Amino acid sequence: MPGEFDFIQWIRTQQKPSELAPLPAGDDLAILKWPEKDLLLVGVDQVLDGVHFDSTVHSPRQIGRKAINRNLSDCAAMGCLPAAAVVTIASPAGTGMDYLKELYLGIKEAGDKFNCEIVGGDTASWPGKLAVTVTILGRSAGIKPITRSGASPLEAIYVTGPLGGSILGRHLTFEPRIDLARQLAKNFRITAMIDLSDGISRDLAHICRESDVGAHVWAKQLPVHQDAIETRRDGRSALDHALHDGEDYELLFTSPDKIPPTIAAAIGMTFRGSGVILRASDGSESPLAPHGWEHTL
Ligand SMILES: [Mg+2]
Repeated sequence: MPGEFDFIQWIRTQQKPSELAPLPAGDDLAILKWPEKDLLLVGVDQVLDGVHFDSTVHSPRQIGRKAINRNLSDCAAMGCLPAAAVVTIASPAGTGMDYLKELYLGIKEAGDKFNCEIVGGDTASWPGKLAVTVTILGRSAGIKPITRSGASPLEAIYVTGPLGGSILGRHLTFEPRIDLARQLAKNFRITAMIDLSDGISRDLAHICRESDVGAHVWAKQLPVHQDAIETRRDGRSALDHALHDGEDYELLFTSPDKIPPTIAAAIGMTFRGSGVILRASDGSESPLAPHGWEHTL
């Protein structure tokens, strides 16, 4: 029966030496020739069976894709370019080679779209469920990394796409907004940015806390996804889904500039103070508290 060694041998056939990683795969560590002027940005993210995906429903390709795309979305949030990734897979005992290959190909295909090379990793089987961890290495590539802490009072708050109901499938199929993030950073003053993994109610609170500002969100201006309307049947409003669901992986950012609505929707404004306030369609205002429910699967 093929084992870990065979899987690694197969992975080696998938990797080609490149300008960034000139040494063929198969050594103890990968060697990267990092462009001299570039800052190195590093992040790691894991997806777990039963939390971020359901292996009885989702295909290994979908799971692999999601595992790396969450990291690629973090690259978008910082305005950097992904360059390389290392991956670990902990798979339930008895997982076949074909399944692992599909998982790997899901990761690789999504990485290839952004020239992000898989330069190393580790795999092991264990009695637990499937867990995939991707560490991403990004490069600044001419753009100063955009943090969460740069927003000032009286800046507009923007979002790059409609929100809510990602559980219907978009949490697996989203496209990391890397190109859009780089375009925005080149053409406008983007003062703070985050990718929407946990929902506006949580993610905007991160920007506010790190930037030491408060934020108004205008319910009327919020782009609501058709999926949020579909998921209303659970008794919550579409607006509620758009505000809290998470895993939209659109970008949420602040800017003193007027950005055309074809690029991003203005959904509110920062103010001197703290907290996130929702202005309802009838003009009434209330604190926007993060909800505690699980939004994945
Ligand atoms: Mg993030």
